[in-house]
Amino acid sequence: MTSTVNRESTAFASALDVIAQVEPRVAAAIGQELTDQRESLKLIASENYASPAVLLAMGNWFSDKYAEGTPGRRFYAACQNVDTVERLAAEHARELFGAQHAYVQPHSGIDANLVAFWSILAARVETPALAAAGVPNVDALSDADWARVRRALGDQRMLGMSLDAGGHLTHGFRPNISGKMFEQSSYGTDPATGLVDYAAVRERAREVRPLVLVAGYSAYPRRIDFAAMREIADEVGATLMVDMAHFAGLVAGRVLTGDFDPVPHADVVTTTTHKSLRGPRGGMVLCTDEFAPFVDRGCPMVLGGPLPHVMAAKAVALAEARRPEFADYAQQVVANARALADGLLRRGARLVTGGTDNHLVLVDVSAYGLTGRQAEAALLDAGLVTNRNSVPADPNGPWYTSGIRLGTPALTTRGLREAELAEVGDLLVDVLAHTRPDGDSQVRYRVDAGVAERVRARAAELVGAHPLYPEIDLTGRG
Ligand code: PLP
Repeated sequence: MTSTVNRESTAFASALDVIAQVEPRVAAAIGQELTDQRESLKLIASENYASPAVLLAMGNWFSDKYAEGTPGRRFYAACQNVDTVERLAAEHARELFGAQHAYVQPHSGIDANLVAFWSILAARVETPALAAAGVPNVDALSDADWARVRRALGDQRMLGMSLDAGGHLTHGFRPNISGKMFEQSSYGTDPATGLVDYAAVRERAREVRPLVLVAGYSAYPRRIDFAAMREIADEVGATLMVDMAHFAGLVAGRVLTGDFDPVPHADVVTTTTHKSLRGPRGGMVLCTDEFAPFVDRGCPMVLGGPLPHVMAAKAVALAEARRPEFADYAQQVVANARALADGLLRRGARLVTGGTDNHLVLVDVSAYGLTGRQAEAALLDAGLVTNRNSVPADPNGPWYTSGIRLGTPALTTRGLREAELAEVGDLLVDVLAHTRPDGDSQVRYRVDAGVAERVRARAAELVGAHPLYPEIDLTGRG
């Protein structure tokens, strides 16, 4: 144990010293970020803390390589070591998730979704058009035929979860490129329960007849029945795409299995690697063999050159996620979210869907007369880092919002457990119940300074008891 402590401290301290020789302000900011993260009680559902091994795998000369193409089929020479890490990452991903194919190049979740959309269009619209024209590729089409194919590509529909029900901007919404590529329609949640109503999704799918049915979310605190989504997709001839960016860690850790595991049911699954999966910032696409050749053209179809250093870190993170300890971690994330929800409910908080069965909790703060923006700022004053989020049928829109989204992946990595999360629920309500809007502002607020100070002190004790990166000791660095 002692040697591990020394090794990791030495690695990061030396790295900072080397950086400081060139631009000390960058080294100082990196060091300060560690201090700040150590001191903050982070409830942001989309963030986590990657292991030192994952972090170190990113900081090296793999960053210097261009590697367009796929392992063994590169447009650049001397990619043998990139091939090794990309193959390893893809193999770990396939084994971990039971996927037929894995593509580990996407630089982020949004990029993974773009790869998925274009792959679905290529497989389901462009390829049949090429076959009908009797040509092998788009370059062989006449200008008139190409114009027809382009019109067909631009004439497709997507059906995804509405933003205020917890869907993501990339699921076909107008401010995002997906909303310009597809004619978008959405399904919401049941107004009485806040839950996905599969009969209503089916009805909507029958009306819309989308090319792509998207399941997945950023702010829905429950499991999704992907077997039901598969049936709906099959009935209307849609491709089922699941964006598991948020809950990939729960799939990897076998908390979401059977009907709730997207991989056996979906044609294409996209994810980030940095949220509950606890890897480097990045994205990934899993798919069936049908989509594999199209997905593998992600770069240069829509992606810039692969980031070999990040693929190396993905391989490390995926190897970690295959260990039994990761399944324990994923179970604990969910147990902690339940404890947090129970703590909040005991104090009378209003939760969207009345609770959680994944890693996140959505609190409707309109019950305290606050916007999400006011609640987020007041909680931050008290040392609780959260983020505002819309709630279903939100009267305050997506900027001010009426909700606060909470997640347990980060605190669980630090080692906090149920009793502490229940107490965090108490602290959250203490602050919310002692915050008032300032006049009729949606932004300004007044928080009881005494309460904020007490909560801040207790939050500091809670995180102080669970040091972040205990194996990294940078004291003594100049
Ligand atoms: N998809 C979902 C469901 C997400 O929640 C997010 C992150 O916010 C993304 C995609 C985008 O991920 P990234 O920020 O890595 O592009």
